[in-house]
Amino acid sequence: SPKHTLLSVADLHAFYGESHILHGMNFTVNRGEVVTLLGRNGAGKTTTLRGIMGMVDQRKGRVEFDGTEIIDLSSDKIARRGIAYCPEERGIFASLDVEENLMLPPKIRDGGMSVEEIYELFPNLKERLRSSGTKLSGGEQQMLAIGRILRTGAKLLLLDEPTEGLAPIIIQQIGEAIRRLKARDFTILLVEQNFHFAATVADRHYVVEHGRVIDEIANSDVKANLEKLHDYLGV
Ligand code: ATP
Repeated sequence: SPKHTLLSVADLHAFYGESHILHGMNFTVNRGEVVTLLGRNGAGKTTTLRGIMGMVDQRKGRVEFDGTEIIDLSSDKIARRGIAYCPEERGIFASLDVEENLMLPPKIRDGGMSVEEIYELFPNLKERLRSSGTKLSGGEQQMLAIGRILRTGAKLLLLDEPTEGLAPIIIQQIGEAIRRLKARDFTILLVEQNFHFAATVADRHYVVEHGRVIDEIANSDVKANLEKLHDYLGV
């Protein structure tokens, strides 16, 4: 694959038990890009991220990361290649404080951000570093969930609806953090239902429906495609 392609997903099928959820997903993410998967509830966006990570019951097709086929690898090995997944449910441990949660994921390779750098990106977290997971607001939990995967050294971040349920001011802060991560050479694949937010951070968008990519829209063309996007997303 071309040198600038970091992730290439080709004809990806995924199954939960007998349920066939992805029906041949096709898309690419280039190095340093922020790319979103847009689509309605149940379209298969989360399953795509889980399919990339090997967290579905069964998958078929091709997933090439950094020039290597990873479809047959375990989730653990995929993570160690340098892909980090931040699930929608965030997975913050209530019994641990901010710093303990931050230190939880193991470093998988060099080049991860230091705790100080993560606090610089999310100053709210530094103010709350001794607060337990339960005491955090939704926005703080989201920042922590993103922050802790930055330590691991992963260069490709899979973020599932980081703005879900958050106040506009917090959504702006998450957007600013994503733009700063892009400037620091992270590559980001973002699942979103809120394309107004997606348009503030992304280079390109793929529209997902019934487990397939049905359209691709450059961010510079979003304004010209608003009507189509409203139709796709039902908003
Ligand atoms: P959402 O925003 O609701 O998460 P999505 O586009 O991310 O939407 P998915 O979560 O990928 O959609 O779900 C796609 C389909 O797969 C849905 O029909 C859902 O019911 C089904 N599904 C998801 N997880 C499982 C599971 N663990 N077992 C069986 N079916 C599942």
